[in-house]
Amino acid sequence: MSKITIAIDGYSSCGKSTLAKALAAHLGYAYADSGAMYRCVTLFALRKGVIKDGSFLPAEIIKLLPEIHLSFEFNQHTKSSDTFLNGENVEKDIRQMSVSENVSQVSAIHEVRVQMIAIQRKLGKNRGIVMDGRDIGSNVFPDAELKIFMTADTDIRTQRRYDELSSKGQHVSYSEIKANLISRDHEDTHRKENPLVQAKDAIVLDNTELTREQQLEYVIKLIHDLTLSVS
Ligand code: C5P
Repeated sequence: MSKITIAIDGYSSCGKSTLAKALAAHLGYAYADSGAMYRCVTLFALRKGVIKDGSFLPAEIIKLLPEIHLSFEFNQHTKSSDTFLNGENVEKDIRQMSVSENVSQVSAIHEVRVQMIAIQRKLGKNRGIVMDGRDIGSNVFPDAELKIFMTADTDIRTQRRYDELSSKGQHVSYSEIKANLISRDHEDTHRKENPLVQAKDAIVLDNTELTREQQLEYVIKLIHDLTLSVS
């Protein structure tokens, strides 16, 4: 079977990355986390002092773009790729709350999106990739053979994010995490350019009551069915 493109979009903290990584490992495909790219731009802007008290001028962020170089390296321990910003592994730093609080506004800037989407399309040009994000099936890879749109109950998503951050030693309150998820979902679905929408041909996966194994099994079956129907 020739390699396909798999787009996984959905709300914040739905487990998109977890599923995408497991799927990529199972299929021997590359995995790309498009949200990590927007998080890198946000982290860089925070470090440069361009974002202050949650506000910034888009023009100041646009000016920084030529200084931002992203790369990805496979990590043998996590069996996934780590994100590098100008040669530094920032996998942990980009998950901080300060980044989560500003990333949706940064990702709404046209010039930022143009630069990130160009990188995403380059990564996916040979197919054989699982990419997760918000506009992958609707905009980055509209021809992806398989598009999944993920959703889950907000409290379940909050608990998952809380557990993830706690396990990394980041102590953020449940209510702060929940407020951040709700506000990011609102901003991501309401922005003008490439908002989070369910692509017409996407398959909805509500994983509120599904284990990781059940989700993986479900998507593998979809791929199997897809292969049968195209061969
Ligand atoms: O996936 P993650 O939660 O890490 O994404 C962080 C943010 O990056 C999202 O809330 C959204 O604002 C932005 N994003 C985007 N388009 C994508 C992926 C992420 O705008 N394809």
